[in-house]
Amino acid sequence: MTASPAGSASAQPRTFLPPEMLPRDGRFGSGPSKVRPEQVEALTRLATTWLGTSHRQAPVRAAVGELREGLARFFALPDGYEVVLGNGGASAFWDIASLCLVRERSQHVVIGEFSAKFAAATSAAPFLAEPDVRRAEPGHATSPHAVTDVDAYAWPHNETSTGVMLPVERVGAGDQLVLVDGTSAAGGTRLDPSQVDAYYFAPQKSFAADGGLWFALLSPAAIERVERLRGSRWVPAILDLHAAIENSRKDQTLNTPALATIALMREQVRWLNERGGQEWAAARCAQSAGIVYDWARAHELATPFVAEESARSTVVATIDFDERVDAAALAATLRAHGVVDLEPYRKLGRNQLRVGVFPAVEPDDVRALTACIDAVLAEGSVLVR
Ligand SMILES: *Cc1c(COP(=O)(O)O)cnc(C)c1O
Repeated sequence: MTASPAGSASAQPRTFLPPEMLPRDGRFGSGPSKVRPEQVEALTRLATTWLGTSHRQAPVRAAVGELREGLARFFALPDGYEVVLGNGGASAFWDIASLCLVRERSQHVVIGEFSAKFAAATSAAPFLAEPDVRRAEPGHATSPHAVTDVDAYAWPHNETSTGVMLPVERVGAGDQLVLVDGTSAAGGTRLDPSQVDAYYFAPQKSFAADGGLWFALLSPAAIERVERLRGSRWVPAILDLHAAIENSRKDQTLNTPALATIALMREQVRWLNERGGQEWAAARCAQSAGIVYDWARAHELATPFVAEESARSTVVATIDFDERVDAAALAATLRAHGVVDLEPYRKLGRNQLRVGVFPAVEPDDVRALTACIDAVLAEGSVLVR
């Protein structure tokens, strides 16, 4: 356990957890998420030679190139697919896709806050028709439906706000595109990239880096769509996917990226690839998530929030608590011990804990977490009388 009680001035722990019971690393956030200390050490080694140097010169471009190649290897990208990146995080990609990938009308699976935001973006775009929205209640899954009057289907691989994971299997025909938000799933679960035309994500979840960049795996069909739409509408330069593709091919970005984020992510992609890549990462996350779900199933005061087992996320496990438990007080008690970021998604409003179990998180630490929760519940200070 390295952290001191983080942000706990107002939350005096009512339960005392002995240090030997605590996870060695107490970071269980769903993004930003745990950065491995070894990544930070790798960054330190670059402190006086690489960090603080030009992103237009060979050393930084080589790092971007290695990162792009590392991702292509990790995802076993089919021929013709390209790894493209730019500034602005996954949220920027919703606007980029609205401008540069959707031709007239998109269909959106909306099952939580993140998937709702992309639907809101295409709905607000004055040059697009009102999107076809397929909704499910928080905690539930639904699927895209093949129809003829859309040119793109959009859904999240993992809806981070609820912990619902959806399959990534191609839907539609002809030149209809599949656009999947892989922000929290990418790197922690299996993906067959041939099933998708744009698979986009940010570095601060399974790739254990900082936020601020977006990455997209683009199929030849997606690249062709970008070319065809070019010039048909006004696109702000910073959101221009064509410019991002051209820059990425040269291992550059339109404007200055966060070099530290690139270095941290490159280190994580190296680490993942050395250990066995996607299969290894997916198995490790599934193991960690299984520890949380099995614990919840066995505890009389807890249940997995996602009832449908096949829809339960293997990277973000959400656990509902019985009304006898004050889950916010439980999270505060854990936070006071340096076990942090277990609070549920802010707008979900449930009596819940949310556990980010990305590849950087040690399954043993997840086990330790469940032991800590057991201890706090048994002690009784977070129970409602
Ligand atoms: C975190 C997250 C986002 C937002 O990422 P930013 O980089 O903060 O814009 C989008 N979609 C999903 C599924 C996420 O988990």
